Amino acid sequence: MHIVKIKSIEHLTPDVLKIIAERPPVFTFTPGQAAEISINKISWRDELRPFTFTCLPENDYLEFSIKTYPAHHGVTNQLLQLRIGEELILHDVFGAIQYRGEGVFIAGGAGVTPFISIFRYLKSKNEIGNNQLIFANRTKADIILEQEFKKLLGNSFINILSKEKADGDAYGYITEEFLKTSITDLRKKIYLCGPEPMMVAIELQLENLGVETDAIIKEKV
Ligand SMILES: Cc1cc2nc3c(=O)[nH]c(=O)nc-3n(C[C@H](O)[C@H](O)[C@H](O)COP(=O)(O)OP(=O)(O)OC[C@H]3O[C@@H](n4cnc5c(N)ncnc54)[C@H](O)[C@@H]3O)c2cc1C
Repeated sequence: MHIVKIKSIEHLTPDVLKIIAERPPVFTFTPGQAAEISINKISWRDELRPFTFTCLPENDYLEFSIKTYPAHHGVTNQLLQLRIGEELILHDVFGAIQYRGEGVFIAGGAGVTPFISIFRYLKSKNEIGNNQLIFANRTKADIILEQEFKKLLGNSFINILSKEKADGDAYGYITEEFLKTSITDLRKKIYLCGPEPMMVAIELQLENLGVETDAIIKEKV
């Protein structure tokens, strides 16, 4: 368990916070991993929630990109009240998603967080290669780090919006047809992370497209 001070807080999108915290002197994680985190305040210390590191393991700080849900009156709502110098408690590090070779990353909303760290890691190694990112959001304003992903991936960054029509982005929910036309090679690995209903729907679509279950690396957020 580590107690770390918050160094900065800003909004990445209207409801997603970027939180930078101190990095404990001896601390390690793999890109894609998360930690159980709580807020070091009375009544909140025992409220642990999982959040993914979006920085690189070698950075001298920790970064989180966190979608906030004020209506839940839970931890993410409390994060909205946090100020620089206040503290987080880092508990266990864990996570199912780690890079296992070139493939297609499919994310819904905050489900992109493990992929942020993985893509930053691949860039640092000059290994972006032919990886693709399919990112589903409600509106353009909800796209986390749109410019960074565009720069990293060019045409291999594909956006689909369910509640807004925007130039260059697909419209609607992800469908089997959409996956078939967007994915360049269905024999590669599929990395899937998003809300449970989206994951269930996409896994079924992938199965119909002949993707083997063990080619899918997944985690629900
Ligand atoms: C491995 C993993 C990694 C994750 N990484 C990230 C990340 O990097 N970034 C990120 O943004 N998210 C991430 N998540 C999701 C994140 O953990 C949740 O969004 C977070 O736990 C929500 O915490 P909360 O206390 O605000 O709300 P919750 O814990 O969802 O809710 C608090 C309480 O509010 C009530 N409640 C629940 N739903 C509703 C509702 N719809 N309306 C009203 N009340 C409700 C319930 O009583 C609940 O106990 C990750 C999840 C996992 C599993």
